[in-house]
This record gives sequence, C-alpha cells and structure tokens, in this order.
Amino acid sequence: MRRFRCPSCQHEVFFANTSCLNCGTVLIYKPGAGFSVSTEDSVPCANRDSIGCNWIADEGQDLCLSCAHTVVVPDLSIDGNLDRWARIEAAKRPVMRSLFHMGLPLRDADGNPAPVFQLKGDPVDRNRPRVLTGHARGTITLNIEEADDDQRESMRSAMGEPYRTLSGHFRHEVGHHFWALLTEADPNALDELRTVFGDDRQDYGEALEAHYRNGPPPDWEKRFISAYASSHPWEDFAETWAHVMHLLDGIETARAFNLIPGDLPLDPADLIALPMAHLAKAWIELSVALNVVNQAMGHETFYPFVLNRAVIAKMEAVRRLIAGSSLVQPREAA
Ligand SMILES: [Zn+2]
Ligand SMILES: [Zn+2]
Ligand SMILES: [Zn+2]
Repeated sequence: MRRFRCPSCQHEVFFANTSCLNCGTVLIYKPGAGFSVSTEDSVPCANRDSIGCNWIADEGQDLCLSCAHTVVVPDLSIDGNLDRWARIEAAKRPVMRSLFHMGLPLRDADGNPAPVFQLKGDPVDRNRPRVLTGHARGTITLNIEEADDDQRESMRSAMGEPYRTLSGHFRHEVGHHFWALLTEADPNALDELRTVFGDDRQDYGEALEAHYRNGPPPDWEKRFISAYASSHPWEDFAETWAHVMHLLDGIETARAFNLIPGDLPLDPADLIALPMAHLAKAWIELSVALNVVNQAMGHETFYPFVLNRAVIAKMEAVRRLIAGSSLVQPREAA
C-alpha cells in the first residue's frame, strides 16, 4: 500500500478511511487514481453506507470494482453477518487494488467480473455440508466465519498453521484462478510451471486426502513455503502466489514509509519487473526486523515463514508468469 493525502487539506489519510479525520472531507477512492474530492460525477459505491466501502462506483454501475466481484453476500438476516461482510470486503479491497495495479485481467471474455467471490455462512441445519473455502473455475468461496477472530484463530491453531488471515485467504485463492487463466493463454507457461511445481495432473482429491491423512513430508520446509503447499502442485502454486502478493504489498508499503533503504522502486508495476532474488533479499531483511519489533510488543511473529532458495525459485516462477504474460498490463499505482 502507498501513503495517501487528503485531497482537501493534505493531511495523511488511510486506505480504509471514508472521510478525512482532520477536515471531514468525504473520501472516494478510485483504482488507478487514488483519493479525490467527491463531485457530482463521482458516484460512491452502493455499498458505502452498509459496509463502509470507500471506492467509487464503476462507470454506469452501482458497485465499485471490488464489490462488483462479490456475487454472493452473506445472509444479512443473520445477526453479525453485516459486520462479517464489512470486514471481509475491507480485506478484499487491498487485494483487488494489487491485482488491478499488477495489471491482471479482472474481466472474463464476456466482460463480466472474474474471478468472482461467494461469501457464505454454514447452513443452520448442521446435517447439511459446511461451506468450504476454495476455488472452482473462477469462483472463490469464502466461509464467512473466517471474519471472526476467535473462529479463525481456533482453526489456525487446530490446523497447526503459523498464519491465517483474510488477506492470506484472498491472495491464495486468486492464485488458483490466475494459474488457470494465465496457463490457458500460454501452454509454454504451463510447461514451465510444471517443471517448478510438479505435475498438476496428479489426482487433486486423492492428494489432499493423503495430505490430511499422512501430514506433510518430513523435509517439507526445505522445499515449500508451508506444509499445506506440499499437498499438490496447485496448492504449492497458490501458496507461493500468495507470498508473492504479500511481498509486493509489503515492499510497496515499506517503501512508502521509507523503511527499506536503497533504490527499490515505489511502484508494484516496477517491482514485478525485478528478479525475485533481489526483492526477496529486501523482504527478508525487513521481515526479520519487523519480527523482532513484533516480539518486542509481545505480538505474534510478523512473517512466520522462511524464504529459502527453493522457495525463492518458485516465487520467481510466479513472478515470471505474471511479468511474461500477454494478458498482463501493469498500471501505475495509486
Ligand atoms: Zn482533509
Ligand atoms: Zn464497493
Ligand atoms: Zn488452495
């Protein structure tokens, strides 16, 4: 994320702000343009009053670029779901902003939003199947209990994961979508990914079942960013993709606050043109420092992951897939 200034008084404002806390100016964010003063032409997203979305409605539409990708919203007749929806969309907007600036396609061939998101709660009838977070053919489903800190933390702990966040879910699931989209457009890219991540034609259901039955291989840390990444090449790719997005967003934010010395560009569209080894070096230095800062505050580790050479090589494959795709047109960040 970059830093923002109020268009009226130049006071610092933050990405989620709906108005300037200094002068009260109503803030409207437009992907690619940043914050501007509300005018007659800038129609706010229709979800502004309900969930605090501060984005501008897409031209001729009711919803903004981010909200338009949500095709199923939680059942608002259920207590707490409005807040859950608001928290989920607040986590989704920065991810949508990143995808937009990375220049990834966000429309399908018919011009409809893609990928799309379904935000669903478990059925009241406990005999019916629970909602599984995951991706299938451009549709990303998120179980809305992930918006509850206590639920998410108890799942994180039960699964033995070092990190579980809404941002992490979104970055992971969009990875599945873009594997499908970008490799469909370029069979050579698919071959290259298979040499790095393994053959994805192995049975996905069986691989996941084996992973949950037997656990990860004992030496997974040498080859994978997470234990779950060892379950199947698609999961390895999605986990790695998520970390490329963590790194790009993390570096963009740290650069904006002058936390990274040296000459790294400010713009994610320029960052993605640099070799991953270069980016990872900066990210590791920063994350080690922030891990210690977090410890000093008694918080959990900021970035509880190890980027070894094997993992950085996989991240480089993701970076090359994006940077080399004819479908991708990076846009200057705002
Ligand atoms: Zn202001
Ligand atoms: Zn919106
Ligand atoms: Zn996955």
